Amino acid sequence: MSNTAKDSASTTGSQLLDKLLANNRVWSEGLSQVKPGYFEQLSKGQSPEILWIGCSDSRVCVETLTKADPGQVFVHRNIANRMIIDDNASHSVVEFAVRFLGVKHIVVAGHTHCGGVKGALSGESLGLLDEWLRPIKQVYEDNKAEIDALSTAYQRENKLSELNVINSINNIAKMPSIQDAWAKGKPLAIHGMIFQIETGLLKDLNVTVSKPQQ
Ligand SMILES: [Zn+2]
Repeated sequence: MSNTAKDSASTTGSQLLDKLLANNRVWSEGLSQVKPGYFEQLSKGQSPEILWIGCSDSRVCVETLTKADPGQVFVHRNIANRMIIDDNASHSVVEFAVRFLGVKHIVVAGHTHCGGVKGALSGESLGLLDEWLRPIKQVYEDNKAEIDALSTAYQRENKLSELNVINSINNIAKMPSIQDAWAKGKPLAIHGMIFQIETGLLKDLNVTVSKPQQ
């Protein structure tokens, strides 16, 4: 366990919030000193070129692992980076990012040691989460022979994480805002990646889709 994690575990809720607020003040004041006018400039608007769709996992923070600055990446996170056709949240974030912000790249990022993927593989009931994980369980069922043939739980989880990313990409590609952007000839590519928590590295799955035929 890291020192930060130990600190978190040993502090009360109110101490933890005090620490969050104190850290925020240090960050804000530090940046303002190094870059005068930074926040005033930031408040004028955003024009990110990337939409990042990742897992809510606390270890997978796009700004930290890519050293992105505020304003560079539009972010949507949910449990197991799931994007499906009949989910209004999925549609809304893609619609806003593509139609109003004009992002040119969408990155769907899964990760190793994903609790959502492990839950979908386990076959156990997780209560309210069962419905959310149902599409991932379906991806598993559709690829059961390939996944079950792998020898370790780690390999099976990672294969399902990769297939889940590809499934999300396929669903995003069918969304009206994406089809519309491609029909108008706008440059827009959807990429798939896996963040390896144990190494800190992002792996490109090389499954990029940038036109309807793909
Ligand atoms: Zn996860």
